Amino acid sequence: MKNRIVLLGPPASGKGTQASLLGAAFGIPHTSTGAMLRKERADGTEIGVEAESYTSRGLLFPDELAIRVVSRWLESRTRFLLDGFPRTAGQAQSFDDLLAERDLPLDIVYLLELSDDEIRTRMLGRLTCTNCGAVFNEAFHRIDITTPCPQCAGVLARRSDDTEAALECRLVQYREETLPVADHYRRSGLLKEIDVAPGRDEVFKTLYDDMREAA
Ligand code: AMP
Repeated sequence: MKNRIVLLGPPASGKGTQASLLGAAFGIPHTSTGAMLRKERADGTEIGVEAESYTSRGLLFPDELAIRVVSRWLESRTRFLLDGFPRTAGQAQSFDDLLAERDLPLDIVYLLELSDDEIRTRMLGRLTCTNCGAVFNEAFHRIDITTPCPQCAGVLARRSDDTEAALECRLVQYREETLPVADHYRRSGLLKEIDVAPGRDEVFKTLYDDMREAA
C-alpha cells in the first residue's frame, strides 16, 4: 500500500475531492495548501490575508508561505496525502529536503489531467459550502448558488479565485510553475498520469486500486 502521496493537477481537476475520498478510504491524513490558507483567511489571520492578496488574482502565494504551512502540518505525521503541494520547482526541492531529513520517501505522485475546456467549465461551475466545505459543481449536480448545501443545508459560495479574470492567470501559473514539478517527479520515476475526464467515481476507483498496490 502507498502511504505518502502527492496529488498534482490543474485547477478544478478534482484533487481536493479525490484527496478526501482516498484519505477516508485508507485512513490517511490529507490536506491542501489552498484549503489551509483559505481557513487562515476565514479566521482573519495575517498569513491568510497575505495569501489571499495573491490567490484572488490567480497568483501562487510565495514558496516560503506554502512550505511553512506544510512543514507545520507534517510535523508528527509519517503518512500523508497532499493536494496542491508542491506547486513550484522551489517547493519541490524544499519538500525533497524535508522528506529526506525525516527519512520519509514519497511513494507516488499522481498527475490529474484534464483539457482546458473542461477545466474552464468545472472551475466556473464550482460551489463550496461555507459551513462544511463540501464541493459541488453546477456542471454535474442539479444545483446553483441559491441551493442550500445538500449535505448540511449551509450556504454555498463561489471561491474568490474561481472567476473568469483569475482563470487564465491560474492556467498560465499551472503550466509555467507546476508542470515542471511533474517533470521533476517523472524523472525520479514517481509520477503516474491519470485522465480525470471519466469523472469522480471512475477516477476514485483507478486511484484506489493503484494505492492498494505496493509502493
Ligand atoms: P487550490 O485550493 O489548490 O485550488 O489553491 C487555490 C489557490 O491557492 C491557488 O490558485 C494558488 O493561488 C494558491 N496555492 C495553493 N497551493 C499553493 C502552493 N503550494 N503554492 C503556492 N500557491 C498555492
